[in-house]
Amino acid sequence: TGTTALPTTDDLRTRARASLRHVGASIPEGGDFRARSPITGEDLFGLGAATAADAEDAVAAAREAFLTWRTTPAPRRGELVRRLGELLRDHQSDLADLITVEAGKIRSEALGEAQEMIDICDFAVGLSRQLYGRTIASERPGHRLAETWHPLGVVGVISAFNFPAAVWSWNTAVALVCGDTVVWKPSELTPLISLACAALLARAARDTGAPRDVHRLLLGDSAVGERLVDDPRVALVSATGSTRMGREVGPRVAARFGRSLLELGGNNAAVVAPSADLDLAVQSIVFAAAGTAGQRCTTLRRLLVHRDIAGTLVSRLTAAYTKLPIGDPFDENTLVGPLISAAALDGMRDALARVQAQGGEILAGGDRRLADAAPRAAYVEPVLVRVEEQTDVVRRETFAPILYVLTYETLEEAITLHNDVPQGLSSSIFTRDQREAEYFLSAEGSDCGIANVNIGTSGAEIGGAFGGEKETGGGRESGSDAWRAYMRPATNTINYSGRLALAQNVSFL
Ligand code: NAD
Repeated sequence: TGTTALPTTDDLRTRARASLRHVGASIPEGGDFRARSPITGEDLFGLGAATAADAEDAVAAAREAFLTWRTTPAPRRGELVRRLGELLRDHQSDLADLITVEAGKIRSEALGEAQEMIDICDFAVGLSRQLYGRTIASERPGHRLAETWHPLGVVGVISAFNFPAAVWSWNTAVALVCGDTVVWKPSELTPLISLACAALLARAARDTGAPRDVHRLLLGDSAVGERLVDDPRVALVSATGSTRMGREVGPRVAARFGRSLLELGGNNAAVVAPSADLDLAVQSIVFAAAGTAGQRCTTLRRLLVHRDIAGTLVSRLTAAYTKLPIGDPFDENTLVGPLISAAALDGMRDALARVQAQGGEILAGGDRRLADAAPRAAYVEPVLVRVEEQTDVVRRETFAPILYVLTYETLEEAITLHNDVPQGLSSSIFTRDQREAEYFLSAEGSDCGIANVNIGTSGAEIGGAFGGEKETGGGRESGSDAWRAYMRPATNTINYSGRLALAQNVSFL
């Protein structure tokens, strides 16, 4: 069940160089900021990171570009995003290669991430003609009351390693059609794919005559991100990552009355009811829990199974878990690639040790793989753990493929357990009983930003708004009307009556 030889670090360097060349990006080599690959766990290139002066320059340039961009008609702004979408289509395979090299995603998921970028561009192009405001019934004769949406300013995008390109595209495609300009601080773990995205957008700007500085990239660690957080010229900070990060970023942006859009950790659960289609449930659960090596914000981390079917479901999951092919993500037979780092493996082992001390029982998986072939990489078997209750470890997000299995008797009990975690991102129920499904989706059901029926917690489409409640941060990105976070509404009262009529019948003079 393991795949064969891993590529060498030199192979990975060659691939990365080729993809970057194809998209027209150069590698700013020579610094001591490292690009690395989780496939071997080794460094690929030393890069130059952004200095304080670079950050200052980027924000100033993006602010300057905003002054032109905000008055460019939105459908024309859409032309930039349409061109970006075309370039992303042309280079889908190169982008997927870089995502695999840097984030360790298997081929089909890396192509899927690049597809998501293409999809959001299509969506944003349509949106560029649909930034609708409303006309509101005025209480006064001869008056019109309206709402107008204006561009907001510079958007600072801070992104996580696990969707190193898609999260940027959700923010950037929408921000650009809304008339904003963008400064991007990607994860320090994924600089190369960021260089590729920035190069394609720069080309799209050249091709369509948009200002060059509608987008700027700043490579570096959290200190570079903090510059965006504290800069009053950055109107919106859209930050994706851990709840720990959001706890630092949210209050700092609020302290300067900036806006933030936070997309933070999840601790997603699925309820499996007695009437569930178990074939469908098993397939969905394994993808949601073990896919992306458990490193999606929407990864399934808790399974709440009705006690009448727990035995059957657990034995089917155990069988599926022991067959998962783990190894080189470029190998088309592989389903589970590496964890991002040795630190992630340590975090997983620590959680497993703690949960076992609290009475948890490992049902399948948990062993390290390929330690001889790649001692600095972190390949691990996705693990299934039976727990009796939601202890502190179960209620925390461990960013690794651990699925905790609990049983329930009544749906009310399942929903109580479901909602009894600090996070509120994604959720699902497997049932053929419509009353149960509707109850789960109702106001007294799942408290998450995403609630699904008969499909897993992960793998959202871009057309819906994406995000979650509680410690997940409350932000919404991507489709639906998430665009409103990137604009500022103005309420307009227009008096065409020729007389002054004060609201609420106030009389004066
Ligand atoms: P992370 O929090 O370590 O880093 C995310 C980004 O924040 C990086 O670019 C980092 O440099 C930056 N950062 C960290 N501290 C900062 C600070 N004080 N000021 C400014 N920037 C700072 O997260 P990660 O390990 O890259 O990603 C995994 C986490 O992201 C998981 O918790 C996952 O659930 C979450 N995530 C959430 C979503 C979502 O949409 N809700 C999507 C993807 C990932």
